[in-house]
Amino acid sequence: MARSPSVSLCIRCEQSLWPGEVELCPLCAVAVRVEYRRGLRELEGNLGRWSAFSSWLHASAR
Ligand SMILES: [Zn+2]
Repeated sequence: MARSPSVSLCIRCEQSLWPGEVELCPLCAVAVRVEYRRGLRELEGNLGRWSAFSSWLHASAR
């Protein structure tokens, strides 16, 4: 199928044709948002653990 400039594939599932400048189909847009929030929560947890590790390291180095 020839791609016209006004229609593009979803960059995530590469299946849904979607008109205009949108890069994600609605399903993938929701999924990406959920993954993003989960990633942020994991990052917060990791930063907390790194902070605790850093505190422990400085305390045990004395
Ligand atoms: Zn999609």
